Amino acid sequence: MKLTFTREDELFRDEVATWLDAHLRGDFAAIRYRGGPGDEHHFVNERKAWERKLADGRWTCIGWPEAWGGRAASIEQQVIFHEEYARAGGPGRMGHIGDTLTGPTLLAFGTKAQKEKYLPGIRAGREFWSQGYSEPGAGSDLAAIRTRAELDEATGQWRINGQKVWTSLAHESDFVFVLARVDKDSQRHHGLGFFLVALDQPGVTIRPINQLTGTAEFNEVYFDDAVCGTDDMVGAPGEGWKVAMGLLGFERGVSTLGQQMLFQTELDEIIRIARDNGAAKNPEIRQRIAEAHIGLRTMRYNSMRMLSGGEDGSLSREAMIYKLYWSSWHRNLGKLAMDVLGPEAELLEAAPYELNRLQSLFLFTRADTIYGGTNQIQRNIIAERALGMPKEPRGQGR
Ligand SMILES: Cc1cc2nc3c(=O)[nH]c(=O)nc-3n(C[C@H](O)[C@H](O)[C@H](O)COP(=O)(O)OP(=O)(O)OC[C@H]3O[C@@H](n4cnc5c(N)ncnc54)[C@H](O)[C@@H]3O)c2cc1C
Repeated sequence: MKLTFTREDELFRDEVATWLDAHLRGDFAAIRYRGGPGDEHHFVNERKAWERKLADGRWTCIGWPEAWGGRAASIEQQVIFHEEYARAGGPGRMGHIGDTLTGPTLLAFGTKAQKEKYLPGIRAGREFWSQGYSEPGAGSDLAAIRTRAELDEATGQWRINGQKVWTSLAHESDFVFVLARVDKDSQRHHGLGFFLVALDQPGVTIRPINQLTGTAEFNEVYFDDAVCGTDDMVGAPGEGWKVAMGLLGFERGVSTLGQQMLFQTELDEIIRIARDNGAAKNPEIRQRIAEAHIGLRTMRYNSMRMLSGGEDGSLSREAMIYKLYWSSWHRNLGKLAMDVLGPEAELLEAAPYELNRLQSLFLFTRADTIYGGTNQIQRNIIAERALGMPKEPRGQGR
């Protein structure tokens, strides 16, 4: 198992840190540490401008091949980039979905024409993407998708009808990738297609959903005869599931590793407050702080163990425990933050009564154990795929 990075990797780390230090200044100083989970509604335009700045420095899409404007960065280098980005207080990435999900999916499954049409806009930080998988009746059970796509012979376009939900940042995006049923008589993961759909068209209605944090980062997205070209389906009709699952492999991969730096920043803040307000004198709180510290170290070593595996982006057994582990750890950190604040946790300072950082952390970490696959689903994956236990009983057609 690797426990350290190579000398070249450390040089790369210096290069990233130096660039970020030089550029997160001036107009961009205000967005340092902003726009992360629970704060995504802030500084949207500034963060889009930041994407273009990153692109100028060749710091978008660094894992892509050089031919498509990337740096062909190794997995280690990508982790280093994410770590340094978080350490420098780089703002929440508006280009995250395009860079780490749409791009790798098109590189793996897309045609040359699709790559030429979509990759440059993502690489340049000009076009932003959202993810259209979940539906009101299809979340954990994604294969229950009911959104339909039909080929309109007269226009040669796909017509999409149905509804997606929880579509993060769709209201700030240009495109959405949509998993839809192309064969109306098909069931489960058969007969699906994977579509690249422009959001700015009459057939698409986007309604933001208000959350208990008081903000609205995600949306309901309605498709009423929305269209996309024949060439905008990735893979063949009926291959949508294969493409969609390939994409999820990227989602659970390297892009989540840098968040450990953000977690450290949050833990440091909690420790500072505990010292200041005397909560650190409470032995139970001290114990929980120690456990949080140990948990973060364990997360780090598990990441290094994941890195020692293959480079194909597929889920190793170590990777399968990662989502369950970090999301549970982070949710507990939110609870610890509230207990350290004590009665103050329930107070809002003054109009407009916005949540403070730790209150927002507490509420938003409730979502960590849901998105990207709930804890229950992660346990099923670990049981069935990593431990080889008997499969969960499935209903008819599954
Ligand atoms: C902040 C946030 C952002 C999101 N962003 C996006 C996005 O951009 N695009 C997108 O497509 N989706 C997005 N989602 C949706 C997310 O993927 C789903 O919420 C998630 O997959 C769970 O689906 P569900 O909400 O329908 O819950 P359900 O699947 O209905 O689950 C309800 C409960 O039942 C449990 N459960 C379900 N099936 C089983 C089982 N087989 N065994 C044991 N327990 C089970 C679940 O664990 C959960 O506790 C987002 C969600 C959140 C919270």
